[in-house]
Amino acid sequence: KKTRHKNQYAVIGLGRFGGSVCRELHNMGHEVMAIDIDQDKVDQYSRFSTHAVQLDSTDERQLHGIGIRNFEHVVVAIGDNIQASILTTLVLKDEGVSQVWVKAQNMYHQKVLDKIGADVVVHPEFDMGKRIAHNIVSDKVIDYIDLSDDYSIIELRASDKIDGETLMSLQLRAKYGITLLAIKDGEAMNISPKPDEPIRTGNILLVIGHNNDLERFEDTEL
Ligand code: ADP
Repeated sequence: KKTRHKNQYAVIGLGRFGGSVCRELHNMGHEVMAIDIDQDKVDQYSRFSTHAVQLDSTDERQLHGIGIRNFEHVVVAIGDNIQASILTTLVLKDEGVSQVWVKAQNMYHQKVLDKIGADVVVHPEFDMGKRIAHNIVSDKVIDYIDLSDDYSIIELRASDKIDGETLMSLQLRAKYGITLLAIKDGEAMNISPKPDEPIRTGNILLVIGHNNDLERFEDTEL
C-alpha cells in the first residue's frame, strides 16, 4: 500500500543549486527532506529542512530504506558526478517516484536524463544564459519561458506606444496569432483582461505564441 504525502519533497545533493531549492521549499513552509552523501552538508542543512539524511543515493537499498517512494517530488541536484546523477534518477523512477526533477550538467547529460525518464530536466546555467541574452537584446522582455523550440511565454513591458490600446484594438489573435494571458499592473494581476480594458504604460503583458509572432508583435506594437 502506498501512502503519498502531499507536498512532501526531497532534495538529493546539497550543493549551490540543490541547497537553494531546499532552503526555498523550507522557507515556503513545505516539508522537505535534505539528502547528501557528505555529512557536513547534512549537518549544514538540518536547519533548512524537515529531516536531513546522510546517504549515497546511488545505492537503491539506502533510498528504499528511507521510504523514498512515498515522496511525491524528488529533486536530483548532484553536480559534477554525472554517473551518480543518472544512477540516482534510475533508482527513483524504479521506486515509482512520480516527479523526478534533475539538474543536468551539459547537453549529453540532459539527453540521457530525458531518455531514462526524468520528468523535468533543468539546466540552470544554460537556461539562465538564454534568459539573460533575451533581456540584453530587448529591454522590453522581462522574463521568458521556452515551451518548445518554437513557442514561448514572454513577459513584456508596455511602452507608451501601446498606452490606451485594448485587446479589441490590438487584434492580437487576428494580426499576430498570439494570446495575451494576463496584464500585470504592479502587484495586481489581471488574468482575464476584458476586450475593452486599456493597457497602460509600464503594465507587464504576459503573452504566449510562436517566437516569430511574438517578435513581430514586440517590434510593431511596443
Ligand atoms: P552545485 O554545482 O549545484 O554546487 P555540487 O556538485 O557542488 O553542485 O554539489 C553536489 C552535491 O551532491 C554535493 O554536496 C555532493 O556531496 C552531493 N552528492 C554527490 N554524489 C552523491 C551521492 N551519490 N549521493 C548523495 N549526494 C551526493
